[in-house]
Amino acid sequence: MTFAELWHELEPLGRDPGTGGYRRYSWTEADAQCRAWFIAQATKLGLAVEADNNGNLWAWWGDTRENAIATGSHLDSVPDGGGYDGALGVVSALAAVEMLKDKNFYPERPVVLALFTEEEGARFRVPCLGSRLMTGAIAPETARALTDDDGITLAQAMTAAGHDASAIGPREDLLGRIGAFVELHVEQGRALAPLDAAVAIAKGIWPHGRWRLDFQGRADHAGTARLADRKDPMLPYARTVLAARRAAADNGALATIGKVIAEPGGANGVSSAVIAWLDARAPDEARLEATVTTVLSAAMRYSKECGVTLSARQESYTPPVHFDQGLRDRIADALATAGMQAPVLATGAGHDAGVLAARVPTAMLFVRNPTGVSHSPAEHADLADCEAGVRALALILEDLAQ
Ligand SMILES: [Zn+2]
Repeated sequence: MTFAELWHELEPLGRDPGTGGYRRYSWTEADAQCRAWFIAQATKLGLAVEADNNGNLWAWWGDTRENAIATGSHLDSVPDGGGYDGALGVVSALAAVEMLKDKNFYPERPVVLALFTEEEGARFRVPCLGSRLMTGAIAPETARALTDDDGITLAQAMTAAGHDASAIGPREDLLGRIGAFVELHVEQGRALAPLDAAVAIAKGIWPHGRWRLDFQGRADHAGTARLADRKDPMLPYARTVLAARRAAADNGALATIGKVIAEPGGANGVSSAVIAWLDARAPDEARLEATVTTVLSAAMRYSKECGVTLSARQESYTPPVHFDQGLRDRIADALATAGMQAPVLATGAGHDAGVLAARVPTAMLFVRNPTGVSHSPAEHADLADCEAGVRALALILEDLAQ
């Protein structure tokens, strides 16, 4: 099947009819549909599909299982996410293999398509959970105890989906079989449009992390509690949102509070608690630390002024990633030889490729996003650009696997 045909099939899975956004959370029904679809497509291509102990899927092409060229991405989404984040890399990988098979290419080195689980961390709050487990970047017992918003643990969710959660953990043997990993991903940002290029090669990923802030106040009556007597956690929370924006601007960084829970959540009451998540990213660790320190100390000061207690803790942290120079150069050469000019870009978005880069020579390709919008139903890539991405990926697989 062509890219467009594959895309057409995957497109409706896990899409919310109301918002048009995707709710492909890991270990849910939508996730099961996406996984089943991937398995069916890979099997049709003659690939041997295996689920690993962490719930990632691997579809193998070739006689051996050594020194493999891996490519792929994820199919889970953020709440009401776009259709391209993750899915583009998975569909492009399938389409690239089909393109190579059509021209009777047979890989010397095996090619393996990877589908990573819980990349977004939308359900269990730790991004790239599948690749982190595989590389040992998170302890299995820590992962098993992660909970979603309904208090369901990862272990429970995996068990309910028919997966043995007691077996999760590092896979040195599997990592040792991968000689290189190339992840194609939709661009998240708008750097390619002004450069008039369909595809870019990633240089690296900014360091980034998530912090949870618990503002604890006192529930009260909105109609009777005097302003002076209130311990309203919404006030320091609101000022912290503004402080995050300012600190990011001052440090050339990005800081976002995109998730907030007000408890108990009554429209006619002062909240008892506000829980907010700070996501911060910067070109280097010094600027990231400066940004986060500023935000957290401001939050602490505002809380004190409002009689609210604050506890803040880091939920995840990913150091800067520099993709493998040798692999990047080889990819650039392969694309240039075929007449494709691919600029080199850094990104603030985390990816499984960033986690694997610590262990395996890793590179990424970005496909132009004309508006730059991502993590939103408005996320988009033109079909012609997606097809250019497939061609680029096929060229790279052919070059690396021969
Ligand atoms: Zn992604």
